[in-house]
Amino acid sequence: MKDLIYLDHAATTAVSPAVMSEMIPYFNEKFGNPSSIYEFASNNKEAINRARISVADLINANPEDIYFTAGGSEADNWAVKETVRALRKKGNHVITTQIEHHAVLNTCKFLEREGVEVTYLPVDENGMISIADLESAITDRTILISVMFANNEIGTIQPVKEIGKIAEKHNIIFHTDAVQAYGQIPIDVKAMKIDMLSASGHKFNGPKGIGFLYIKEGIEIGSFIHGGHQEKGKRAGTENVPGIIGMGKAAELAMENMEERIKKETELRDRLIDRVLSEIPYVRLNGHRFKRLPNNANFSFQFVEGESLLIMLDMNGICASSGSACTSGSLDPSHVLKAMGLPDDICHGSLRLTLGEENTKEEIDYTIDCLKDIVEKLRSMSPLYEDMILKRKQV
Ligand SMILES: *Cc1c(COP(=O)(O)O)cnc(C)c1O
Repeated sequence: MKDLIYLDHAATTAVSPAVMSEMIPYFNEKFGNPSSIYEFASNNKEAINRARISVADLINANPEDIYFTAGGSEADNWAVKETVRALRKKGNHVITTQIEHHAVLNTCKFLEREGVEVTYLPVDENGMISIADLESAITDRTILISVMFANNEIGTIQPVKEIGKIAEKHNIIFHTDAVQAYGQIPIDVKAMKIDMLSASGHKFNGPKGIGFLYIKEGIEIGSFIHGGHQEKGKRAGTENVPGIIGMGKAAELAMENMEERIKKETELRDRLIDRVLSEIPYVRLNGHRFKRLPNNANFSFQFVEGESLLIMLDMNGICASSGSACTSGSLDPSHVLKAMGLPDDICHGSLRLTLGEENTKEEIDYTIDCLKDIVEKLRSMSPLYEDMILKRKQV
């Protein structure tokens, strides 16, 4: 067994070796500023536009509609804030969900303080929004629907195509935070009627600090960073050339082996889910059983503290998460699990395991064996668990 078993791919992923070797020359030999006139530097402009094509191809977008940003959070901020600003005359109502990533959620909270009205759609026990709820939330002041493609904690995939259809029917802009879905599962912005889409390099074996916002042609939203003419003046600042080149290569790799990876990850995920549910008592799977990302498993273990679970997994060389990287470290239960109606004590015992293409069946089996031991050990120290077992014996 390797020293480290990494099961936290929803938090971040390693840069693929092939991605890394594409990037390296752009740190030194090819350091030129893409805006410069001489060929040494202007070649970099062409390299950027090749990466733009690779990134666009993966979602059937036109390359001219891709705007590079410094990551997923920036793309989310841009989409939501600038749509609200651009459409102020038409209305000031935004519809989103209770389970968005904080990049969307906290942007909406910020806008609420500025007088924007926001509807946070609830989700069912599987973390799915209801299309009927969405339709009834729409008013003639609604200017934006922002619903994430797939959730970063529970992996649930939303009915994006249906949402796109409704948005189009009502002439409302549809933005989706696809940071977890991009490069993992098929996305077609045209067939799905997506107007804006956010993605981030480091979630699909590209580098950190680079992402993009897809803005469909004809959608007139303002610049996010004012300055030079980069990204058609909409996102100024000298381009992160190595980052862009790396993300482009990562998109190509994702496209090449998507089918194979989905198959492999789904098999491992299902093995993990089936074994945990059948071999460990008092556990539930969070998120939809089938409409979920191929690499996501999220469990709640009753009578166990998620934090203790993580520490003990760490002692066994296993990297996992109790929710999103942003919420772990705080003791507040996950807003996603709460929105699904889980009571606080069950939320506290939750564990997210997210797979990547390098994980093996042996690693998964080892992890399950560790989990069984750890859960048993933690429960044996839990007074609540003792109580429950005693009461059961009495009946
Ligand atoms: C990671 C993540 C983000 C933030 O992306 P960064 O590039 O880290 O800023 C946004 N949304 C979702 C769903 C994510 O998983």
